[in-house]
Amino acid sequence: MECPHCQSEKVVKNGKDYHQDGKAIQNYLCKGCGKRFNERTGTAMSRLRTPASIVSYALKMRTEGMGIRASGRVLEKSHTSIMRWEQKLANQAQQWSPEAPVGGDVTIEGDEIYTRVGENLPPQESKGWTVVFIERNSRYWIEARVGIKTTELFAKATKTAWQWSKASQYIRWFSDGERRYAQQLWQMASVYLKATEVSREYGHRKVWRHGLEVAIKIKGSQGNRRVEWVKLEHPYTAISDKSDVHANHNEANNSALRRRCSAYRRRQNLYAKNTEGLQRAVTVQRLVHNWVRPHGGLGKNKTPVMAIGLYHRPISMLELLTLRGFTSLTP
Ligand SMILES: [Zn+2]
Repeated sequence: MECPHCQSEKVVKNGKDYHQDGKAIQNYLCKGCGKRFNERTGTAMSRLRTPASIVSYALKMRTEGMGIRASGRVLEKSHTSIMRWEQKLANQAQQWSPEAPVGGDVTIEGDEIYTRVGENLPPQESKGWTVVFIERNSRYWIEARVGIKTTELFAKATKTAWQWSKASQYIRWFSDGERRYAQQLWQMASVYLKATEVSREYGHRKVWRHGLEVAIKIKGSQGNRRVEWVKLEHPYTAISDKSDVHANHNEANNSALRRRCSAYRRRQNLYAKNTEGLQRAVTVQRLVHNWVRPHGGLGKNKTPVMAIGLYHRPISMLELLTLRGFTSLTP
């Protein structure tokens, strides 16, 4: 037994707690840091007395598209309990978000989804936007950030996606018409060429980092589409074909999200009335998508995490709830 706070092994038993089903939970006291802990400390189940199986059922219902009230009725639990459990798992998102494998090859697609939340405001002022980034080939869902469609929202989402991908060797970064992605990215991912590397073709010294290319897809008013390459690529970076840029899996991802996340469907949903409710639901959805639910398009029983090479099997909802993040999975 190791202390989850300081990793000390000098721990002693320190009384028991009992869960609602009567199961005894051994508490420990760490002699290293003086903190108490038990097997649930640092997991989505921390400080809950509900059996993990009940919480697991609730989140399965929610991530298959049931509303909060309906899930509560089925399990004979209050809707506030269901919301709290969802929030507990959403709070663990960082622990379940490993970065892309070092030296890999990724295609990042950015998109936005809109739903009405709260009062009836025009879309541009509404807090019902979700900025989404996914990795095309694995369908790994990198980021889903909810809020008003401002530069700050794009900045935060872009930063997360860049942090996730930057250890990759090759990065194709494609988005649908939103220039703010590229502006934020330029600040983080541009480099200066040496004077000797600047040629006539590359008249500018500031270019994208080697291996990174960035394009936006412009949807014209007559349905014609074109691709705009953003800023100059590094002289040694090969540029993708336009058809590569146009391929898109975001549409399928968005419709799955609408189907499985009731907050995107219900106009009058009390619990999707604010940004926090929508963010909570979509974060849980993202973790389940990446780790738990095999994706039909990836081959038999394969999750996005497996497809990108971060783990070798699907994990269960129970593991997602009771482990201290991906680092505590057995290799
Ligand atoms: Zn300790």
